[in-house]
Amino acid sequence: MTTGKKDMLKAYRKKRRFPETPEPKGGKGKSKKRPVFVIQQHDASSLHYDLRLDIGGVLVSWAVPKGPSTNPKDRRLAMQTENHPLEYANFEGVIPRGHYGAGPVLVWDTGTYRNLTEKDGEQIPIAHGLENGHIKFWLEGQKLKGGYALTRTGNSEKWLLVKMRDDEADARRNPVKTEPESVLSGRTLSEIAEEG
Ligand code: MN
Repeated sequence: MTTGKKDMLKAYRKKRRFPETPEPKGGKGKSKKRPVFVIQQHDASSLHYDLRLDIGGVLVSWAVPKGPSTNPKDRRLAMQTENHPLEYANFEGVIPRGHYGAGPVLVWDTGTYRNLTEKDGEQIPIAHGLENGHIKFWLEGQKLKGGYALTRTGNSEKWLLVKMRDDEADARRNPVKTEPESVLSGRTLSEIAEEG
């Protein structure tokens, strides 16, 4: 990618007023050898789950209204949103009223991921897959494990998130419903809303 880190977070910073929002402004992002992912539960104008993957030193982000599924038969809408800084993976708290995304944020799952993206049977960098509109990755989270695919539909910001068929697929699980607590603090979203 030719764009600098600063430009990659331009939209993120433009939407926010620091330090009135407790969200991180973000510094120079550098991808780890094992890149991180995070899924944050966020009750803004509507409840959704933000899936974020470290790609090229920023958290490339999608808002998933229904959250991820462990059932390969489910196709979950994922709207791509602005890149977030790497520091955002640890952000849990309340975005104050009147600010962009106002409402509580909970770290629902986090861990590392491995790139599985292929083209014509060959593995390609996930950044290339992002440009092509199709990526695959293996999550090593506390709640979610296994392969997931994200595929862009047409030329829009609309993607579909699907669990791949592997040993971690499980149609009987529904962790979004049964495991609502934060993996960082054990709190629920309403507890974060009350406590800040
Ligand atoms: Mn959000």
